[in-house]
Amino acid sequence: MPRLSFIASAFIHFIFVFCLINTSISGQVIAAKNKKNTATDLLLGKVDELSDKLMPKVIAWREDIHQHPELSNREFRTAGIVANHLRTLGIEVKTGVAKTGVVGILKGGRPGPVVALRADMDALPVYENNNLIFRSIDSTMYNGNMTPVMHACGHDSHVAMLMGVAEILAYMKNELAGTIKFIFQPAEEGPPGGEEGGAKFMVKEGVLDDPKVDVIFGQHIESGGTIGTFSYRSGSVAAENDIFKITVHGKQSHGAAPWSGVDPIVTASQIVMALQTIISRNSQLTKNAAVITVGSFHSGNRENIIPGEAVLTGTIRTLDTVMRNTIHQRMREVVTGIAASANATADINISMEDAMLVNDPALTEEMAPILKLLAGDSNVHVVQAGMGAEDFAYFAQKVPGFFFQTGALPPDKKPSEVLHHTPGFMIDESSFRTGVRALCYLTINYLDKHAGRR
Ligand SMILES: [Zn+2]
Ligand SMILES: [Zn+2]
Repeated sequence: MPRLSFIASAFIHFIFVFCLINTSISGQVIAAKNKKNTATDLLLGKVDELSDKLMPKVIAWREDIHQHPELSNREFRTAGIVANHLRTLGIEVKTGVAKTGVVGILKGGRPGPVVALRADMDALPVYENNNLIFRSIDSTMYNGNMTPVMHACGHDSHVAMLMGVAEILAYMKNELAGTIKFIFQPAEEGPPGGEEGGAKFMVKEGVLDDPKVDVIFGQHIESGGTIGTFSYRSGSVAAENDIFKITVHGKQSHGAAPWSGVDPIVTASQIVMALQTIISRNSQLTKNAAVITVGSFHSGNRENIIPGEAVLTGTIRTLDTVMRNTIHQRMREVVTGIAASANATADINISMEDAMLVNDPALTEEMAPILKLLAGDSNVHVVQAGMGAEDFAYFAQKVPGFFFQTGALPPDKKPSEVLHHTPGFMIDESSFRTGVRALCYLTINYLDKHAGRR
């Protein structure tokens, strides 16, 4: 028997106390709902009851997946667990979608729309530094090196929670007015070089068709958010990520005779500084934030030679399409203009890496009150957009989407100690009950409100 670490036992104690508190809160919610006693209210009451019963299973799934993390496009074991579970529930299953993706289709007993629910499955090349009894000690080949792997973004919890949601909704399928498509997605963090992957690839393979999805919901666990809270935002939620490469062509010369050549290092340095003025002088920052970062600058190989070329690469983050287009246009003008002023030439190449995640305003307005019903008004926060990327964007480009975050901060930790993508990342499992209920509540309410639409 492994000995429980102090942290693990503190966790278990907390989970126990939290469950006691939360059960009584949910009891009040059920009681309030049952006063109306509509069919939807009865189903939501059933969700509360079933999610309580299912929690030990959801936690066990998560700990197992956490202990066996798999990198993007390599989620073979995880996909197998998901597919087996969905099959035992009598859900129609497709595997191998966009490499390792699993899609389940659950048809309700009454006609209605198609709601898709998405969970991402991949882990990250990060060393797990904590005392959890289910911590990952796995390593795998990554970029040619053996590298430790960890679920350092919480996608293990997304998988486990959606497996729980599938079990609850399958149990009540005769009462459901419509179809639910469960999308277990590979490679949210980005596929390995040279491979396709993620939401973009799933969309390309037709995951939103047959049956055609009407709306899609997604949640992300948030290690820095208080347990029992949700956060969301209408409109742009996460930035578009464009990457750029600038090559400045000068003329090689002796380091002692710069007048006989064209110095690409000095020219590229002027470009680096001028790019920042595009943000400060040309971008309407009162509307939205924007970022240009030059992340690499390579030129030359010797102290007394002025090289012939300099190469800059970087990223552009925007939350507004008009601002993005302005930035691209100004970058081209500034780069070619500065190069010309130095008698050099320059090429600039800009390509989209990640789409902007936009929550559909009408759907957000319809669904946010459901989160408030679940958590209480004061526990649902409208937040600022972030400059990071989230590939749920590719689903939300095609069909109205609503993406929200579920708080999971361990009570003995500060948000800065458990940041996503770091060795200290940690989430509290008592948050899973809130996440499972949220996806069930959103689905049932949407189906009921739009029943008979098909
Ligand atoms: Zn991540
Ligand atoms: Zn993530």
